[in-house]
Formats: sequence, structure tokens, C-alpha cells
Amino acid sequence: MPQVDARPASGYVGRFAPSPTGPLHAGSLVAALGSWLMARHHRGRWLVRIEDLDPPREMPGAAAAQLRMLEACGLRSDGPVVRQSGRDALYQAALDRLLASGDAFVCHCSRSDLAMHGGRHRGRCVAASPRPDPAIRLRVPDGSRIAFDDAVLGRIEQDVATEVGDFVLRRADGLWAYQLAVVVDDGAQGVTDIVRGADLLDSTARQILLQRRLGLPTPRYAHLPLVVDGHGHKLSKSSQALPLRPDDPLPALRAAWQALGQAPAAVAAAESVPAFLRSATAAFQPSRMPSVPVALAATHNSDVTNPD
Ligand code: GLU
Repeated sequence: MPQVDARPASGYVGRFAPSPTGPLHAGSLVAALGSWLMARHHRGRWLVRIEDLDPPREMPGAAAAQLRMLEACGLRSDGPVVRQSGRDALYQAALDRLLASGDAFVCHCSRSDLAMHGGRHRGRCVAASPRPDPAIRLRVPDGSRIAFDDAVLGRIEQDVATEVGDFVLRRADGLWAYQLAVVVDDGAQGVTDIVRGADLLDSTARQILLQRRLGLPTPRYAHLPLVVDGHGHKLSKSSQALPLRPDDPLPALRAAWQALGQAPAAVAAAESVPAFLRSATAAFQPSRMPSVPVALAATHNSDVTNPD
């Protein structure tokens, strides 16, 4: 059910789009809370999309666990939760258009073919022999330089032709590539603002290029800092990537709030999730979001300490 908000709605549409590869951990909660707060701050809508396109990488029950944790944190989608696994027809239609316009092409290259040619696919297939299961790639001509202004990180530029090359839209194993699905869905759902972890920054230029090829508008982007543990290690590699506890969400919410660079005092008095979200919405300042990796001292238990 959409949440009731007395303030006038704006055209802002944000989203949180987890892949169900495991339960939410402290790092993914930062992206969930950050995108939710930005949407509330702009009086917009916030959507949840489950990116379940890669069955081999999925963990059974992870999507349900993620939704349970979001619910426990009071972060509810302002619209039906969309699952990418049910949207083949949309991705196929986009792919057909790109094939028809010549922007996409069938590619028989194997990894070893590419390795022998510098690792990147540049303009033409170098396959030693045709394969029964070719991939489909986007043609990325020379000069495909993309620049955008990230709300947290500032000006970002990437030459997609030389730094990435012709990238995959449908994999040789028949699965849709993340780049295609995310662009088609953000477009179909009218997403205006993408707030997500900085680990996805490298994909953004590819996505903007694809939006242009498909005639879709480019959203605004804000990439949140990578969350590391007290020793500077990526969170997913540390014990703090343990699942969060839906029966005790406040410590994790407080830690996520601090990781977003917000003042701990603003939510210190909140003793319930609704009180936390009210205080957080009122006090949230997007300009405080840090542009460098942030440490998270304690997250999944009730023993929250300040990050050092
Ligand atoms: N599904 C992606 C992930 O969990 C995020 C996609 C996105 O936010 O663009 O890493």
C-alpha cells in the first residue's frame, strides 16, 4: 500500500533494486535507507524492484528475507514490488529494437577470443568459430564518451568505447544482462533518480549510453559511499555482512543513518521505527552524504557504537 503523506507529491521517482543473492546486510541497508530518504526529502515515490535475473547466483528465500527486513525497517514500496524474472517480454522488445536499428549485434566471441584481442570487444567479432549460443552486444562506436554529474561524487566521465567496449545485453547462457534489464525497468517505471552504492558507479556510463539508444530519459544519479568495516575491508567480505535482524531493526537503521553522513543526535531519541523514520526524514541533509568510503562499526546487533 502506498504510504500516506500529507505533503504534495512531486515528480520524483526513486527506487531500491536488490539482487536476491543473500539477505540484506548493513551495506545494502545504506542504499535502501539512502534512496528512501532522498525520495521522501523530494516528496517523491520510492519503489522496490527485485532483480532476480540470475538464478545461479540467487539464494533461495533471499528475496523474501530482503522484503521482510525492509518491512521491519518501515521501508515500503509506494507501488507493487516488481520482479525482473516476470519481465522477459519488456527486455525482449528492447533488444529487438536495438537489433533492428543495428545498435545491437549477435556475437560469437568466447572469453578466450576476447583475451587474444586485448580483452575488450571493439566493433567486430573476432570469434575463431561460430557458437551455438551467441551473446548479443551493444555496439559502442569510438567517441562514445559519457559524462554526468553525480549528486554525491560530482563530475564523472567514462569513454565507454575504450574502457568497456561493446557490452553484453543478452548473455551466451540466454540470461538478460543487468545493464539491459536495469535500463529498461528504470525507464518503464518512470524512475527519475537513482540512488545506489558506489560499487555500481562503473556501470552508469553504459546505462546512460543504452538509455540514449533506446530513447529513454536519463535519470539523475547519486552514488552512495562504499561501506567498509572498521579495518577498511569491503563489508561483504567481513563479518558485518551478517544478515540484519528484522526483530531488532533500529541499531541497523541508526548505523545506516550515520554511514549516510547524518548527525546521530537527530535520531538518538527515537525508540521505534516510525519515530526513527519521522526524525530521519525531518533531519536528512543530502549535502552531508560522504563521497569517500565510510566505516560502519557495529550494525546487525543491538550494540551500536559510533564509527571511528
Ligand atoms: N541489483 C543491483 C545490485 O543489487 C543494483 C542495481 C541498481 O541499483 O542499479 O547490486
